[in-house]
Amino acid sequence: MLKNIAVIAYHSSPLLEPGSGDSGGMTIYVRELAAAVARLGVRTDIFTRAQGSARRITELSNGVRVIAIEAGPDAPLQKEELSAHVDEFVAGVRAFSVTQRVAYDLVHSHYWQSGLVARSLADTWNVPLVHSHHTLGQVKNQTLAPGDVLEPPSRLSGEAAVNLAADVLIASTDDEWEHLSCLYGVSHDALKIIHPGVDHGLFHPGDRAAARAELDLDDELMVLYVGRIQPLKGLELAIRAIGELAGSMQKAVRFLVVGGASGRGGDGEITRLNRLVSDLHLGNVVRFEGAQPHDRLPIFYRAADALVVCSHSESFGLAALEAHACGTPVVGTAVGGLSYIVVDGVSGYLIDTRDPSVFARRLRAVLDPKASDGFHESASRSAATFSWDRCAAQFFQLYDCLVRERSPEACTC
Ligand code: UDP
Repeated sequence: MLKNIAVIAYHSSPLLEPGSGDSGGMTIYVRELAAAVARLGVRTDIFTRAQGSARRITELSNGVRVIAIEAGPDAPLQKEELSAHVDEFVAGVRAFSVTQRVAYDLVHSHYWQSGLVARSLADTWNVPLVHSHHTLGQVKNQTLAPGDVLEPPSRLSGEAAVNLAADVLIASTDDEWEHLSCLYGVSHDALKIIHPGVDHGLFHPGDRAAARAELDLDDELMVLYVGRIQPLKGLELAIRAIGELAGSMQKAVRFLVVGGASGRGGDGEITRLNRLVSDLHLGNVVRFEGAQPHDRLPIFYRAADALVVCSHSESFGLAALEAHACGTPVVGTAVGGLSYIVVDGVSGYLIDTRDPSVFARRLRAVLDPKASDGFHESASRSAATFSWDRCAAQFFQLYDCLVRERSPEACTC
């Protein structure tokens, strides 16, 4: 029954390296889920807006293709500019399906603008629509970081339109489920929680000494941040906490910041953080490493004594899960999926205040040589419960059920 799925990733191509611009956790999510669903025998075409010299059809992995559809200028666009090209994109996907003679059994869209595309496609093809928001405009506005700008009304109304059209909305956490239910009024029947996974083939404990040598680290303590840089990620708090920590440890402390600027406030945030580093005289402590290729990240996680997460909000927090999968403890704000990933006081700490002294105290506890082995072992154990195959199995069951509901004569349940 379930043979072909159309995935819509309109604003951000899964072919882009994550870590800066619009490419981050969602990129990894779309790629990994499609690959894992394909392992269950379902072919996936991921449709994205054509930009630059990318080929029209790219084989991403076994059973997964990325299809670049022309819509608007052949150049990067701000998210706000993308709504104007939705109709052209929809027409391009429809034409592809006709000329290539591929019939899709279901559409799964990621982020609200993709949801608007998917709404039209699901209507035309008369197939079910599954949607993942990843982040929600209303939540972003309620937890706005200093220096960030409000999400526009067009996003909020777009999200509401997608919520009405989707057969099922996916929440990554209980919190997202609650936001969709309470802030957006989505009926409970249309909501399903599925946690994302992690690639244990890439992210696993490994040779720590080799990883540290590769990063030019001696026996200093290393705290790591991995993610895009924008006000939402709250890195000022991490830098202030590292300042307090560095002044109170016997060993030297390094703070490695991996990731590049993202969104409207990204470049300004990097300038502001550099100024803060200089004001706090932390030039020898903080190293901005820029965005790194995804498959190089295990070196950073393995070399680190702890990962710090200071986000004002998170959809899930894949970097924390990757760190744990490499056996690295996490000290983070209790946002997104961190409460599923981090066992408080056991594999790291969850903190519900934005006080740098509290972060510094918790980091000190994790870095304590008498306790650190226990934190590292617990981190790996906690991550072992997450995998993309487990996530894909839940999606497969959902997709299959929705497709069967559309053709009751084929239903065997
Ligand atoms: N990432 C990467 N290179 C970088 C920085 C980040 O590959 O330089 C990846 C990281 O491994 C993770 C994703 O980007 O998979 C960030 O996901 P997360 O859920 O932590 O944050 P989001 O991007 O969703 O805000």
